[in-house]
Amino acid sequence: MTTGIILGLPVLLNAQTVPTSPAYHLGWDGKSSILKVSLDYTPATKDSTVFIYGDPNFGGQKEIFKVLQNIESTDKIKLTPGERKITVYHADTGLKHISYTINGHLVGNPKRSTVDELFRPLIMPDLLYLVPKFFVINAEGHAAKEASIQWDSYPAGLPYFFSSAAGPGPAQKQTISLTNENDALILMGSSLIINNYKVHGIPYYSITSKNDTINNLKADLDPFFKRYFPGLRDFWEDNSAPYYYISILPLLAIDKPWATGYSQKHGFVMRYSGTFGNEKKRVLAHETSHAWIGNNMQIGNDEFDNQWFGEGFNDYVMLINMVRSGIQDKADFLDYVNKDNLLAHYSSTVKNVPNDSIAAKFWVDKNIQTLPYKRGFIYAFYLDNQIRLATGGKRTIRDFLLVLFKRDRQIHAANPEANLTLDDYIAAASKFLPKKQVKSELEMNLIKGKPLDFKKIKLIRGFTIAYRDSIPVLKIAGTVDLKNVYKW
Ligand SMILES: [Zn+2]
Repeated sequence: MTTGIILGLPVLLNAQTVPTSPAYHLGWDGKSSILKVSLDYTPATKDSTVFIYGDPNFGGQKEIFKVLQNIESTDKIKLTPGERKITVYHADTGLKHISYTINGHLVGNPKRSTVDELFRPLIMPDLLYLVPKFFVINAEGHAAKEASIQWDSYPAGLPYFFSSAAGPGPAQKQTISLTNENDALILMGSSLIINNYKVHGIPYYSITSKNDTINNLKADLDPFFKRYFPGLRDFWEDNSAPYYYISILPLLAIDKPWATGYSQKHGFVMRYSGTFGNEKKRVLAHETSHAWIGNNMQIGNDEFDNQWFGEGFNDYVMLINMVRSGIQDKADFLDYVNKDNLLAHYSSTVKNVPNDSIAAKFWVDKNIQTLPYKRGFIYAFYLDNQIRLATGGKRTIRDFLLVLFKRDRQIHAANPEANLTLDDYIAAASKFLPKKQVKSELEMNLIKGKPLDFKKIKLIRGFTIAYRDSIPVLKIAGTVDLKNVYKW
């Protein structure tokens, strides 16, 4: 396709031709907080092109449009900051050019640093942190599904990571998907340490920072790459990923211990402060485990519908795989089950809130936010025990989840947008436990939210629950080798 043809047949443009992919050119001097961006594009329609920058829902960044500065084009431009909108008026549909800068300075507000450092561009003398959402401007109504990214100028010899094309340096032109534009991470800077691993043949990457002087992150992460990540793939019998990365960088504007992050389809982006202890390890393990339950397998069409599954069951899968990988021992396991789950849940004032009331209160009530995690975790622990008891120890929660995962793949093969239903859950669980029991517990304990009464519940050999006041407390006999319980 040439520009001449487009000019000759403007009427056909929308329906019959695919516009040239937008081409982004980037420049950074390695010292300043400014990223220079220039974009070549062919308009989808005559007259004008409307670009939208940023997403206020991405980490609550209401002021994100201010990051975009020095917007210039040979054509006339109108800015509508309230709608994060740039309108460019042009007289034809030939190749166009627009340039702007992205100001990635560190905001430095300790109260907002946990979101600002994740959901804004961060550009400093030793670190450039970008996801496409931070520099790509989307042309409304444009049919292009991809954009090319080319670094025109950059400091030589710095560690560099482009998640969807790890390995090649910044000199190589890359392509990003505009339909899922978030799913790429670009990092450059002298502070970065980039390590490569193979997990069952799949390339895995870690990106950490030289600026962390209190932890030895390489040593902390090693067991994840050697045992936890391979263990998760064994758990799900799934080696289908093209690659996977974890970016774990220190928070800069906060000094209290913290961990925050978000999942991408093939990676996890984390920021932390303080010691990289058990809690942070479990956050990392929980989030990377979401590659299956949560990101891939979801019950219902809204992620809030059945968070007891998306969060709680995922958290249980996380913990038993952490035990299996040796990153958590029996004491850690008991501590997490008893303190973080049983005590926290049974002493909570919101423990009886039904599942369908969670979404409305989720963002205003902190207790509600963690409710589905604990409710689902405790039920998954119980379910694992019941499946083991009913099958004489031959089957575990893993067998049930593998049935559900198989069903999930069938559903996605027919329709990538479709999700599991509660009926799929019932059908899978009923392969291991009486259907009547599965259905009534789903209704009573997960949907209505009545806490399980462990006084009436039998667990596997060596596991007992006694009540201290109204709080159930799990004990595991000294003879039980937990690694042996959680092996398959
Ligand atoms: Zn989660």
